[in-house]
Amino acid sequence: MNLDLPKDYQSNKVKRLPPSVVKDIELKNHARRLANLSPIRIKVRTCISCGTLFESAGNRTCGCNTRSTGYIAGREII
Ligand SMILES: [Zn+2]
Repeated sequence: MNLDLPKDYQSNKVKRLPPSVVKDIELKNHARRLANLSPIRIKVRTCISCGTLFESAGNRTCGCNTRSTGYIAGREII
């Protein structure tokens, strides 16, 4: 339910990744570059579950279906 989401997320058209997750991805990208892997790209996608636009580092859902991991959506990526 949308009522469970923080107000910031409800008022934005696009759900943003929290800064901690973005930083995490930057660190991973640095490591990936050193390992000659292509970096993780953050892009705006439409959630396949609820249709919300959200910043994704590869996830297909914005986290709406997994309440506890909702705001750390980017953490599913290795
Ligand atoms: Zn969703």
